[in-house]
Amino acid sequence: MSDLRVRFAPSPTGYLHIGGARTALFNYLLARKEQGTYILRIEDTDVERSTQESVDAILQAMDWLGLSYDEGPFYQSERFDLYKEKVQQLLHEGKAYKCYCTAEALTQKREAAMARGDKPQYDETCRELAPRADDSPYVIRFKSQRDGATSFDDRIKGTITFENKELDDMIIQRTDGTPTYNFVVVIDDAEMGLTQVIRGDDHVNNTPRQIQIYNALGYALPEFAHVPMILGADKKRLSKRHGATSVMDYRVMGFLPEAMVNYLVRLGWSCGDEEIFSMDDLIEKFSLDNVGRSAGVFNPEKLLWLNEHYIKTGDPQRLGTLLKEYLEKDGIQVSADIDCVEVVKSLQDRSKTMVEMAEKAAFYFSDTLVFDEKAQAKFITVEQKEAFQSLRNQLSQGPFTLEGVEVAFKAVLEETGLKFGKVGQPTRVALSGGTSAPGIFEVMLVLGRDRCLTRLDNVLAMIG
Ligand code: GLU
Repeated sequence: MSDLRVRFAPSPTGYLHIGGARTALFNYLLARKEQGTYILRIEDTDVERSTQESVDAILQAMDWLGLSYDEGPFYQSERFDLYKEKVQQLLHEGKAYKCYCTAEALTQKREAAMARGDKPQYDETCRELAPRADDSPYVIRFKSQRDGATSFDDRIKGTITFENKELDDMIIQRTDGTPTYNFVVVIDDAEMGLTQVIRGDDHVNNTPRQIQIYNALGYALPEFAHVPMILGADKKRLSKRHGATSVMDYRVMGFLPEAMVNYLVRLGWSCGDEEIFSMDDLIEKFSLDNVGRSAGVFNPEKLLWLNEHYIKTGDPQRLGTLLKEYLEKDGIQVSADIDCVEVVKSLQDRSKTMVEMAEKAAFYFSDTLVFDEKAQAKFITVEQKEAFQSLRNQLSQGPFTLEGVEVAFKAVLEETGLKFGKVGQPTRVALSGGTSAPGIFEVMLVLGRDRCLTRLDNVLAMIG
């Protein structure tokens, strides 16, 4: 174990999106690589927007990606006493104050500032006011340091400096008594002993405010690492316009978690020109040193390419179990006489997603085939009757093994005087409903003798 402590701190106001998942992954990889500790903290101080459903969705997505954590999940909503205590401490030390300005007054001032072309900032009306004895509603603001500058060495972006005059007195406790993000994130990161804070660079602007809070509460600073954002192909911030942004939507679309992990890590991190990384490779090779400074561009085609790779090379046993789930979701009854592992083996080289594999596998499971019209017109004809009949007879005897069906086929060719091509393709249509199924012997072996005979009987009946 090392002293390294990192965390993933999602706000449960929606599903786990691509950017969040990448942050979760980077933290995970660093923790595993350095044998540190990975903490999950649910940032649900915004009680109006946080939902249990979203917490569940985030946990489910992390589980799917294989991102296990060592501590947590901690919920900020269960830590309000601690935050209150810290608010009191700051009030007591004169580092925070009650602000009685009404929302209307603040809006008015903000609009006036904007009309003047000034940056809207809180004007410190209540900064030196004595607390009122009555019960007028108030928020609590942090008395920020207004002169000088706040600077930090970002592990990815280098030194970043903010003029303190840009930082107005932010609200740390709302009128309803709930604390705000920029305040509690500091308390938790410090109290949980985090050594590194790795997060999206949309938080860069929050960092100087947070640093001032660290200083006010006497906490040591962690190292900050802000990961560049993810853009769509049009170089605009990734959003739903660019396709699915929820990680779990990709599972629904038939992606494997290892493809997703491999894809996510390359959105910002690189290792020479290597593209394929297992989780174990990543744990060995990941480092913040190789996280780039420029934004990653989301490329669905590359994700698909990786998925195809992982399907092709995946363990058929595992994919068989997965395939069953996708088939059942499609309403296909997975009968026990068909071995899903063999189905996978016959389709692994022909499927980019598990959804595609399930579509291609459907014909195995029902003897009532939906025929491709063209194929049916071309191959299920009177001219084929003799060959189908002969094949039916040959297949009903002898061992039903690869050798056995090959021998049966040869016998058909001898009996009918036809070439393989004249029998193979029609048989494929008879057994699968179309011309794009896997190799005919493979299909036969997956189907087994009984289903092959039933399907041949069906086409013979169709021909009449
Ligand atoms: N809860 C914040 C978010 O989901 C992240 C906070 C942080 O990483 O500091 O954007």
